[in-house]
Parts: sequence; structure tokens; C-alpha cells
Amino acid sequence: MKIDIVTIFPEVIKTYLEIGVLGRAIQQKLLEINVRNLRDYSEYPHRQVDDYPYGGGAGMVLMAPPLIKAVESLVENNSVVILTSPQGCKFHQKLARQFLQQEHLVIICGRYRGVDQRFIEGWVDQQVSIGDYILSGGELPSMVVVETVARLIPGVLNNSENLDLDSFSNGLFEEDLYTRPREVDGRKVPDILLSGNHKQIEQWRSEQREIKAKELKKNINNKIK
Ligand code: SAH
Repeated sequence: MKIDIVTIFPEVIKTYLEIGVLGRAIQQKLLEINVRNLRDYSEYPHRQVDDYPYGGGAGMVLMAPPLIKAVESLVENNSVVILTSPQGCKFHQKLARQFLQQEHLVIICGRYRGVDQRFIEGWVDQQVSIGDYILSGGELPSMVVVETVARLIPGVLNNSENLDLDSFSNGLFEEDLYTRPREVDGRKVPDILLSGNHKQIEQWRSEQREIKAKELKKNINNKIK
């Protein structure tokens, strides 16, 4: 699978791509990622990529021509062009699986107030939001998408990072996890996990996953008043 990411801050993204699961996937050539500087596609003086909004108002807007040039020089026969946007379709594990089926993704990172609407209408296949909040750019959202998809590529995760047990992989949440020490501030590890009875442990874990999926709402741990 190949992914091109178009951004005005390529260095930030390149650093993140070097570490952990993503770094390994790229090194092992299970995934090819190219980070493109939007300014390289600008034909304006000083490699300008943004301008004031028509109609007035504060902030800048990414201009269509550099974005169009980037997309047109990157797309191939079966490319899907994704724009990160808080107005997009909410990103979730199922969408990640759909992206995984694609040969080539081109992900555009917005900045400032956003991008010229004509680019969205003419060149973007799918707008993707990572949640109902506003970030300053599409760089973090693009990394969220890329890392989620990369984890699904066969061979990317090693045995210790079991994909099938991840939350959302089968409609369940992962069971509660415990590691050393045995006691933390009076809180103990559930006895069953120390019993050595693997059959019962497996049963406990699978019950936990079911219970969490049924009863735990996503904000159960939100203790902020
Ligand atoms: N004025 C815009 C927000 C601009 S934020 C609006 O109200 O819709 C600047 C850029 O950051 C966006 O173009 C987008 O690429 C990115 N961005 C910000 N929040 C995001 C989110 N929740 N999901 C995906 N991309 C986001």
C-alpha cells in the first residue's frame, strides 16, 4: 500500500513516521509513505500557498492551485484523495478497513481556516474528521488515519501486539489489563489472573470483553466535573 501526505509541515510528519509500528512497517516495505511539501507545488512567488478569504474576515485559506497541482501530479489510476477536515465523515475502525483495501491514498492536511471550496468539490473523494473538535492543522489527523490503517496491514504487528484483541476489532472492548506489581495503593490484581488456570483466565477475559461492550459507555472514565 502507498500513501502520499501533502502538508506545509513535512518535517513534523517525517519524525513521527520513524518510530514504533509505523517506522517498522515502512522499513519492512509493508507500507510506502511519501511526505510532500505543498509549497513545492506552488507557482506563486515565494512558494505561497495561502491567501486572504474573499469577502473579508480573519485568517488565511489554502489556495486551490497548489493543492490541485499536488493532487494531479500524485494521483494514479486507483488513488483515493482524502482531505482532513472537522466537517468530514467521522473516522472509525471500519473506515480504516476500507482505506486498507485501497492501493493508494493521497491525504491532504489543511491549515489555517481551511481550504478553498472549489478544490474540495473538484478533487477530493472523501473528507475525514477525527472528532468534533478543532485542531490547527491536518497533520495530527493524517497521522491518526495512517497509523490506524498501518496496524491493519498483515505482518505489521508482531505477536505481542495482538490485533484481534484490540478494542473495536470485533465489536468488543479489550479486557482490563494488569502487570507488575501485584498491588498498587491497596488495589489488587483479580485473583483469577494469578490462578494459573488458563482455561478459566480465557473465559474471564472473554466475559470481560462482552461486559465492557454491553455496559461501558465510552465516557465511563470521564471523571472531570
Ligand atoms: N475553519 C475550519 C477549521 C479549520 S482547522 C472549520 O471550521 O471547519 C485547520 C485544518 O485543520 C483543517 O482544514 C483540517 O485539515 C484540520 N483539522 C482540524 N480539526 C480537525 C479534525 N477534527 N479532524 C480532521 N482535520 C481537522
